[in-house]
Amino acid sequence: MNARDSEAVAAMLRHRGYSMVDSEYEADIVLLNTCAVRDQAEQKAIGKTGHLIKHKRNRPNFIIGIMGCMAQNRGRGILDQLPDLDLLVGTQKFHRIPDHLDSLIHSANGLGPQPGTIVDLEDEEGSQNTICDHDPDQRQVSAFVSIMQGCNMSCTFCIVPKTRGRERCRPIAEIVEEIESLASQGTREVTLLGQIVTSYGRRELPFKNGKSPFVQLLEKIQELPEIKCIRFTSPHPRGFKKDLIEAYRGLSKLCEYVHLPMQSGSNRILRAMNRPYTAKRYKQIVSELRTVVPSMYISTDIIVGFPGETEDDFQETRALFMDIAFDMAYIFKYSIRTETPAAILPHQVPQEVKEARNQILLDILTQNSMSRNQTLLGSTQEVLVEGPARKGEGMYSGRTRGNRKVNFSGTPRLIGKLVPVEIEKVSSSSLYGSLVLHGMETDKPLTTKKL
Ligand code: SAH
Repeated sequence: MNARDSEAVAAMLRHRGYSMVDSEYEADIVLLNTCAVRDQAEQKAIGKTGHLIKHKRNRPNFIIGIMGCMAQNRGRGILDQLPDLDLLVGTQKFHRIPDHLDSLIHSANGLGPQPGTIVDLEDEEGSQNTICDHDPDQRQVSAFVSIMQGCNMSCTFCIVPKTRGRERCRPIAEIVEEIESLASQGTREVTLLGQIVTSYGRRELPFKNGKSPFVQLLEKIQELPEIKCIRFTSPHPRGFKKDLIEAYRGLSKLCEYVHLPMQSGSNRILRAMNRPYTAKRYKQIVSELRTVVPSMYISTDIIVGFPGETEDDFQETRALFMDIAFDMAYIFKYSIRTETPAAILPHQVPQEVKEARNQILLDILTQNSMSRNQTLLGSTQEVLVEGPARKGEGMYSGRTRGNRKVNFSGTPRLIGKLVPVEIEKVSSSSLYGSLVLHGMETDKPLTTKKL
């Protein structure tokens, strides 16, 4: 989500006549978009800003700003630590950045009063509709589209409801229009973004034929001929009702990959986290998804070391983690977030216990993804070609519908096409293969057969 917000701000700035440079040392302005989910992310942003502020001493007109969740979370308090900051912009004010920069530059040129630090952190009605700009000069085969802002859940560990505000959705028509415009510039895959995408429009928009507004949105995107792949992140397990499960049967473009945050496999800890499902229900959702799409790729988020997590609780997480055999997972060590209910819970777990539990899950994950990838050896996968690979002359990369990265030898004209690639080599994180040239039809999508 931060990557998408940054990209939208960059596009707004380009429209205003600003240009991007490759290095922060060439820049006249640096904006840091920040995360507040864990303390480590905040410390990193503060360290980086401190470093840039030193740079400012030799260049008084250098402008430095902090935007996003840490700005929202810490507010003006950041200025105690970083008084030389020029700009502090919260998560509902990104669209105001071009104006703020204009006025900072104006005064730096002696044309206006010295504004001091500009601080813009208020809530703003309708701000969810402002994250819609993309850079028209840059073709994105795969694009992120923000469909909503905010979060109405109250997971006891999480700072996001504070930093992102209440849930607000964008109208279906505007989202579809944005995707059509992206498609006309070459986008073939979209990833819909929101804190809890499955809650999309739940309060604002009606259900139709038993279908939630989110499923209605998926159906609308399915109809766009140039879009070949639809993904989304993050859903909530609670959102996997019949309509969404059935969408995987009915919507051919919906990729067979779900990121389904589990957090813990212990019912006791799930309750303490205020996650409204049990380990059994979580398993049932996975099983329903795998009934509709047996090859479904599933990834998750796990927190180890939530306050009060005992060895038994962790063993339950470990057992469910192994049982589901996730293809990918983000495993987090619980990080205290001030002003969240879990921050003041007793029995905080020692760091070394968190480290050890983290490592156990990581080892299981590496094994799982390796063995899943090995099953793909010799198979032909449909791959949407995104662009040149990071390494290797003439090498291109794309992702399978299951979201596995594939590298293969190709040509620039394949970018944006769905091509068949035979998998010849695998690691736990990537696949390597060759284009299947026989019968290849690069201008039309291959029909995807679901098992
Ligand atoms: N709204 C999304 C994403 C929230 S942040 C969702 O609910 O899925 C992404 C992940 O960060 C969470 O799923 C959780 O696993 C992790 N996370 C959130 N708060 C955390 C904390 N205080 N410490 C460690 N990990 C945390």
